[in-house]
Amino acid sequence: MADMAAARGALKEHFGYDAFRPGQEGVVEALLAGRDALAVMPTGAGKSICYQVPGIVLDGLTLVISPLVSLMGDQVRALLDAGVRGAYLNSTLSPAQQATVLERAAAGAYDLMYVAPERLDDPRFLEFARSAHVPLVAVDEAHCVSQWGQDFRPSYLGIGDFIAALPVRPAVAALTATATERVREDVVRLLGLRDPHRVVTGFDRPNLYFAVERLEGKRKLVRIASYALEHAADSGIVYCSTRKDVERVQEALVEAGVRATRYHAGLSAAERERNQRAFIADDAPVMVATNAFGMGIDKSNVRYVIHHNMPASIEAYYQEAGRAGRDGEPSECLLLWNDGDIGTCRFFIEGESGNEELTAEEADAVRSSRRRMLEAICGYCLTTECLRRYILRYFGEDSAGEDSGAAEGTGAGQTVGVRCCSNCDGAIEAVDVTELARSVIRCVHELRGRFGKGMVADVLRGAKTEKLLEFGLDKARNYGVADASKEQVKEVVELLASQGFLEVTEGRFPLVGLGPRFREAGAPDFCLQMKRVARKPSRAKGTGATGHAFGASGSVAGAADACDEALFERLRALRKRLADAAEVPPYIVFSDAALRDMCAKLPRTPDEFLDVSGVGQTKLARYGDAFLAEVGAYLDGAAEGE
Ligand code: ADP
Repeated sequence: MADMAAARGALKEHFGYDAFRPGQEGVVEALLAGRDALAVMPTGAGKSICYQVPGIVLDGLTLVISPLVSLMGDQVRALLDAGVRGAYLNSTLSPAQQATVLERAAAGAYDLMYVAPERLDDPRFLEFARSAHVPLVAVDEAHCVSQWGQDFRPSYLGIGDFIAALPVRPAVAALTATATERVREDVVRLLGLRDPHRVVTGFDRPNLYFAVERLEGKRKLVRIASYALEHAADSGIVYCSTRKDVERVQEALVEAGVRATRYHAGLSAAERERNQRAFIADDAPVMVATNAFGMGIDKSNVRYVIHHNMPASIEAYYQEAGRAGRDGEPSECLLLWNDGDIGTCRFFIEGESGNEELTAEEADAVRSSRRRMLEAICGYCLTTECLRRYILRYFGEDSAGEDSGAAEGTGAGQTVGVRCCSNCDGAIEAVDVTELARSVIRCVHELRGRFGKGMVADVLRGAKTEKLLEFGLDKARNYGVADASKEQVKEVVELLASQGFLEVTEGRFPLVGLGPRFREAGAPDFCLQMKRVARKPSRAKGTGATGHAFGASGSVAGAADACDEALFERLRALRKRLADAAEVPPYIVFSDAALRDMCAKLPRTPDEFLDVSGVGQTKLARYGDAFLAEVGAYLDGAAEGE
C-alpha cells in the first residue's frame, strides 16, 4: 500500500527507525485508512509513533489531546528536532501567542498540534477546528476518560462531543497504558470509537529488572543513598508516598552527595517547573517525588525507579516503575516496603471513598475494589515466584514468560536484559509456612474477626500483653501454639489476605477475618511459602539488612553490553553540551539507546551515521558533524594509544 510506504519513509526520515514495532504497524495502517484505533501498550512501547507518523503522512492537521500541559512543550520540541511541523496550544502561551499559533495552523503550517482537553470547550477553538481539515484526532492517556482508571479527568468526557461536532468525522486514535477491561470499554464508549482496530501488546518489559526488598524505615534511606551513589552516572526516580518523605529523602540524598531534586504538589508551581527542568536536563539526575510526578514524562534515559514505599496497586506500581528504561536499555525497578506501608494504604482506602460523591453502595464497591488492588500489591511484595510473571498474570497475560527473563526480545525493548528479577536471581530463599498458615487461619476463626493482626500474632505466640489478658485470650484454644516471630505471623497474615484466605479491613485499626477461600487451606495439597532473604556473602556495599546483590556495582547499563564505556561517556558529554546550547533536554538530542548504537557501530561517514538507530535526516543534518568528529577523535586517539 502506497500509504504504508509513505509511513515507513516518514519513520526512517524523521525518527531514524527502520521498522515499526509490533502493534504500531496495525494502528498506523488503520488510521491511514480512516479507521479508529485503540492501542493499549505499556509505557515505553512507542505509542507516540502510532499517531505521529500518520499525522505527518495525512493531509491536514492532526490534533493530539494530551492531559499534561507542562510537557507539551517538550513533546513538540522533540518533534521539531526531528524535522516535524508540530505545535501546541495551551495556557502557558500568552493570548497573542495563542492567536499566532491558530493563525498559522489555519494557514496549514503544522501537521500535528497538541492541545489540552479543556481547550475543546473553547468556542473559538471549536470554530477553528470546524473550519480546519482534521483527518485524525489522537487521544493520549485515553484512560483519563474512565472513572475506573487511576487518573480520571472530567474534561476528557467532552472529547466525544467535540469529535461529533466536527463537520467531517476524523479517524480517532485512543492510546493508553492501562490494561483493565473495564477501563478499555469505557474508553471505547465514552470517546465514541467506531469499530476500532484494537491492539493490546504484551505488557512485558524485558529490559526492566524487578526487585523487592523489605526494609525498616531508616534502612530505606541508607539503601536509596547507596544505590544512587553506586549509580552516580545514571538518572533515576525515587517515589515516596508522602510529601514529608519526599523532603526527607531528597535532603538525605543531597547530603550524601547525590544531585537530587524534588517534586510534589505542595511546592510552588515555579519550583516544580524548575526542578522538573533540572531533572530532564540531567542537571539533577535524580528526582525524588510523590506520584504527582511523572505522567507524560518521557525522559527516555531513566535508568532506575526506586519506590520508598509500597504503592496502592499493581497498576500504579507498573506505571511508575515503567518510567524506567523507555529507551529499551537495561534498567532497574526496586520496591522497598515494610509493614507500615500496608497500614498507610489501608488507612487511605477508608479516607478516600469518604470524600467522593457516591452512594453508600458505590462507596462500598470502590472500597472493595481498592482493597483487592492493595491485596495484589501486597502479594507482589511477599511472593516467592517470579516478580515479572506475577505482574503479567495480574494484567491477564497468563501464558507469559515461563522464562520471560531470559527470553529474547519481543517486547518494547531494543536491548534485552538477561536478568529478570530478585526472586529469579536466587537472592531469596523460600520457607515453607504451611502449618503456621493453618494455625493463623484457625486462630482468626476463633477470634471471629474482632482483632487486628498484632493480636493474632500475640495469641499464637502466647504473649502476655495487658490487652490480651483483659480479653481473656490466654484461654483461647490457639493460645501459644505457634513458634514464630511476631513479624513472621504478621507477614503470613498479609500473604493469606493477598490470596483471599483471609480478609483485612481498611481503616486506622484494620481487623482480620476469614476470606472466601479459607476452607481451601484445609485441603491436603494446600501449601504456602514465604520468603527469607538469603544472607549471601555480601557484594552490595553498605546496604545493611539484606545482603542483597541488587545492582551490585557500576552503571546499570554498563553491566550488560560490550559497548565502550569511555566513548559512551564522551558522547553523553557531547550530547549534554549540544542540548544545553540548543536549550532542549539531552534525551531529545539522542536517546541513550542511540548513543549505545553509535558506540557499537562507530560511524565514520554521514551514511554510516544514518545507520544508527534513532538517526534520521534532520538529526544527521543537525548533529552529524559533531558526533562524527567525536567518534573520529576517539578512534584516532585509541589508535595512537596502541
Ligand atoms: P510510550 O508513549 O508508549 O510510553 P514513546 O512513544 O515515548 O512510548 O516511545 C518510547 C521510546 O521508543 C522512544 O524513545 C521512541 O523513540 C522509541 N521508539 C518508538 N518506536 C520505535 C521503533 N519503531 N523503533 C525503535 N524505537 C522506537
